[in-house]
Amino acid sequence: MKQNDNLDFDARHIWHPYSSVAYPPTNHEVVSAEGVRLTLADGRTIIDGMSSWWSTIHGYNHPRLNRAAKQQIDQMSHVMFGGLTHQPAIELARKLIDITAPPLQKVFFSDSGSIAVEVAIKMAIQYWFAQGKSKKQRLLSLRNGYHGDTFGAMAVSDPENGMHNMFAEVLPTHLFAPAPTCVNDDDWQDNDISGFRQLISEHNDEIAAVILEPLVQGAGGMRFYCPEYLRQVRALCDQYQVLLILDEIATNFGRTGTLFAYQQADICPDILCLGKALTGGYMTLAATLCTDKVAQGIAADGCGLLMHGPTFMANPLACRVACESIDVLLESDWQQKVKIIEQQLIAELMPYQTMDLVKDVRVKGAIGVVELHQPIDDQMDWLPTFIVDQGVWIRPFRKLIYIMPPFIIETDDLSQLTGAIVKIIEQLARQI
Ligand SMILES: *Cc1c(COP(=O)(O)O)cnc(C)c1O
Repeated sequence: MKQNDNLDFDARHIWHPYSSVAYPPTNHEVVSAEGVRLTLADGRTIIDGMSSWWSTIHGYNHPRLNRAAKQQIDQMSHVMFGGLTHQPAIELARKLIDITAPPLQKVFFSDSGSIAVEVAIKMAIQYWFAQGKSKKQRLLSLRNGYHGDTFGAMAVSDPENGMHNMFAEVLPTHLFAPAPTCVNDDDWQDNDISGFRQLISEHNDEIAAVILEPLVQGAGGMRFYCPEYLRQVRALCDQYQVLLILDEIATNFGRTGTLFAYQQADICPDILCLGKALTGGYMTLAATLCTDKVAQGIAADGCGLLMHGPTFMANPLACRVACESIDVLLESDWQQKVKIIEQQLIAELMPYQTMDLVKDVRVKGAIGVVELHQPIDDQMDWLPTFIVDQGVWIRPFRKLIYIMPPFIIETDDLSQLTGAIVKIIEQLARQI
């Protein structure tokens, strides 16, 4: 089948993320990938600036991850997790407990980030129910947050970005504090937390948990905020008897410069959601960890079953690759690599601050963000083709052009990504 036939069929029959079948998006067909490069069906190769949505931290087609996957396939690709267990899940749970904060002792495996968030919410509500506090059923979240696309996760994501008005009848109404604005601890001002403090003090009798993305609000706007905010949130949760759920699905495994973002605030969550880079981008897997206190609390009411159990729970193939991915990461000098990427992003992106269209440039760890004054309209059909013509893969959304490359990226390739950003902005300027 010719490439155009493929793309034609794709456009006519297949939904892509957040797309309309009436205005099918421009898609590029990828036939293989290696290191930081994707090979397209027309033979071109492009440098991936997205790490396939935060996940491929080691790059594509990694020999060790490939070997791990192949070995596990020959042994057992899958087996149900009800009544059965297996080495890959045990080993992965051991590793996760080992590398996260000591109080986090229990692991629930699921198949995607959104489900890890659903499970976290269930854990929190069941915990208080078992304590005889069945009124504590609401969540306190942040404006500009993003926690996934399933109904429970969507209900704690930003109401406007998630278009909650369309789902008003089916979504629970949670509480939303203003998004944090303070970027450095040195500039901390108490009014950054005052809206949050007011909500938690007024509603704590009905709040089961706070849920937020530590230090980086990802899909809700690529906004960064300071560790002090997290410390304040932790203290308020303790003061008002509210559990703290940290959604590290985007930030986990080194992206912000520490293995987990919460480590920069030196706090420990009651419940922690992991995903995206967990398998190094090989397959879909997520995990929800919690403390002994939460787990024992859920079990306390005599019945106390945690009411979740996906068909593909703890898929051995995914768990095996996740174990290998964690080993590859921890055996590498990832901290140094993330630091070098950060310094290069600062050096090469910050100068764009002076461009007319640019509102803000920000860098944290291996994340570089250029925010424009105007949204980049998705319907601008020249944009995806223009980007690929620069030899790169970047996917702007709303006002944001951002990159979070695989940690293995080399200097020249990263320069090609940052150089492409300036070309995109110049091209936008010409179109306006
Ligand atoms: C991507 C993401 C999710 C959802 O994960 P999926 O695997 O897409 O379901 C949840 N929370 C955060 C912070 C994310 O970035």
